[in-house]
Amino acid sequence: MTRRVIYPGSFDPITNGHIDVVKRALSLFDEVIIAVAPNREKNPLFTKEERVALVKETVAGLADEKKLRVVEFDGLLVRFAVEQKACAVVRGLRAVSDFEFEFQLALTNRKLEPKIETIFLMPKENYVYLSSHIVKEIVSLNGNIGCFVPSCVETALRKKFFPA
Ligand code: ADP
Repeated sequence: MTRRVIYPGSFDPITNGHIDVVKRALSLFDEVIIAVAPNREKNPLFTKEERVALVKETVAGLADEKKLRVVEFDGLLVRFAVEQKACAVVRGLRAVSDFEFEFQLALTNRKLEPKIETIFLMPKENYVYLSSHIVKEIVSLNGNIGCFVPSCVETALRKKFFPA
């Protein structure tokens, strides 16, 4: 049986922290579906199409690329997971600050769909403080984000904040 998992998020935009989680999930499972969802914040910086395109461009070079799929997703996560015949949802856990929300989400999803487990993966220490939000803040102040995001994302961010 194919062990397939869903990695959902808003990816506004994808960062090296997300990529770290994707790689860890790829090492554990047969297939990973990256599901790009609407942003939890009201105003995402990138449209859903732009976010999907950046995720696709970023994962294109990964060693296990064939085990990956990038899709847009809207609606109830556990329903989507069942439709996709996934066994679990993967989430990244950075610090204690992530825990409360993620715990609530995981237990709510379990109540809605007991078959779907939630699996938490911790990134490399270098990425525990990294978030899409902080990256956007640094770019908006014209700071260097080369070590936080892939180059295609850096270019896209600069275009958004400093259009030529
Ligand atoms: P959401 O709005 O659903 O939290 P995000 O794109 O911010 O979407 O995050 C998607 C998932 O990736 C979440 O589980 C989040 O905790 C995780 N994540 C985000 N940044 C990192 C990081 N630097 N290291 C590990 N996990 C991360």
